[in-house]
Amino acid sequence: MAVQTVQNGTGANAAGTTVDLGPAAALSCRECGERFDLGPIFACASCFGPLEVAYDLPSGTPDELKKRIAAGPDNIWRYAPLLPVPADVASKPNINPGFTKLVKADNLARELGITGSLHVKDDSGNPTHSFKDRVVAIAVEAARAFGFTTLSCSSTGNLAGAVGAAAARAGFRSCVFIPHDLEQGKVVMAAVYGGDLVGIEGNYDDVNRFCSELIGDPLGEGWGFVNVNLRPYYGEGSKTLAYEICEQLGWRLPDQLVIPIASGSQLTKIDKGLQELIKLGLVEDKPYKIFGAQAKGCSPVSTAFKAGHDVVRPQKPDTIAKSLAIGNPADGPYVLDIARRTGGAVEDVDDEQIVDAIKLLARTEGIFAETAGGVTVGVTKKLIESGLLDPTLTTVVLNTGDGLKTLDAVAPTTGPTATIRPSLDAFRDAGLAAS
Ligand SMILES: *Cc1c(COP(=O)(O)O)cnc(C)c1O
Repeated sequence: MAVQTVQNGTGANAAGTTVDLGPAAALSCRECGERFDLGPIFACASCFGPLEVAYDLPSGTPDELKKRIAAGPDNIWRYAPLLPVPADVASKPNINPGFTKLVKADNLARELGITGSLHVKDDSGNPTHSFKDRVVAIAVEAARAFGFTTLSCSSTGNLAGAVGAAAARAGFRSCVFIPHDLEQGKVVMAAVYGGDLVGIEGNYDDVNRFCSELIGDPLGEGWGFVNVNLRPYYGEGSKTLAYEICEQLGWRLPDQLVIPIASGSQLTKIDKGLQELIKLGLVEDKPYKIFGAQAKGCSPVSTAFKAGHDVVRPQKPDTIAKSLAIGNPADGPYVLDIARRTGGAVEDVDDEQIVDAIKLLARTEGIFAETAGGVTVGVTKKLIESGLLDPTLTTVVLNTGDGLKTLDAVAPTTGPTATIRPSLDAFRDAGLAAS
C-alpha cells in the first residue's frame, strides 16, 4: 500500500474515504523511509520497521508560528499545526491535556548541588494524572478519523485510565487490558470511567503479546488499540512535552533532560519534537543531552547502554515502578541511539532509591510524584554524583505521574509523626511544640 503523493495532509484510509489529520501527510518507515497512506497501520510492509507520522510542516516565519501558538488554548491543541489532528480539533470532545506546570525547583536544586537551573515538568496535572493523557488525546483523533468506535490498549496502568476517560468523554466504547497485580489506585482509575477493564494473569509483556494476538483476530476486529495499531499517532502526543518545555523556557532548548523509559516511546518522541522546533526556527539550534531513567528491577535499556550494546535484551520486571515495568521495550534501540548521539546516558535506581527520591521531591518542592517520578529524580541525583550530568546547566526532569496512584510505594515508610490524645499535655509530651 505504497503511496502516491498526498496533498494538504489528506490521505485515504482502508475504506477509501478521506481522512483529515491536519498537517499529517503520510506514515513513513523509521528504518527504510518508505511512505504509506495515513491509516491504522504501525509496521512497514517492506521491512517491518515502525511507522511514524510525516508532516507538511507549517509555512510562515518562526515569529508568526509562535504568535499562532500563543493565541491557541492552554492545552496541547495550541500545537495543532505540528500534530496529526484536524485544524478544528479544539472544538471536538476530548480530554484536552497538557500545558502542565514547569516548576522551577530551586529547593531541590540546592539539595542536589545544582547551581544552574533545575525545572520539574509536572505532568501529574493532566486530566487523569499522568503523561498518558497526551498520547491518548492524539490517538482519539486518529480513531475518530479512521472510523473506530471502540478504544483499547495494553497498559502498565496509567494508559488504561487515560483511555477510559478519553473514551467516556469522546463517546467511544472502551475495553482495556492490564496486568492483574497493579496498584489499587491504577485499577480504580482505569475502571471508574465505566469502560471494560480486563486484568490479565501475567506481566505487561504478556498483556502486550495478548493484545497483538487480539488485534489480528475477529474478537478484536475494528478496535483502535491506541498503543498498537494507532501507535504512530499516539507517539506524536509525547512531542507536546518538548514543545511545552521549550515554550515555557521562553522558546529555548534546555541543556539536559531526564526522561523515564517504559517502552521508550516518550523519550524518542521528545527528541523528535525538539528536532522539529530547531528545524522550524522556533528555538536556537544548540546541543542538548537526553538522559533516560529506569528502575533497576526493569532496566533492559540502561543495561544495554552501560554494556555498549545496540540491542536490548528483554528482562522479567520486578520493581515498584510498575508504570515503567516493560521488560521488552519496543523503542529501546532508538533510546540507545538518542542517548549516545546527544551525549547523554541511561541510568537506573533501585526501589529504595525510588522511594527516597519521591520523598525528596515532596519535601523540597511540594510535588508528590508516582514511582516513575521517583525514578527520574533518583537518576538525576545519581547522574550528578557520577559527573555525567552537568550541575551548572539548565536541566529539566520529568514527573510523569501522580503519587496518589502509587500510595502503596510510600505508605509503609510514611505516616503520622505522632498519634496522641486530644490534650495539650499529650502534645507537649510528643516533643513537637513551638516551645
Ligand atoms: C507510560 C509511562 C511513561 C513512559 O512510557 P513510554 O512507554 O516510555 O513512552 C512514563 N511515566 C509514566 C508514569 C507512564 O505511565
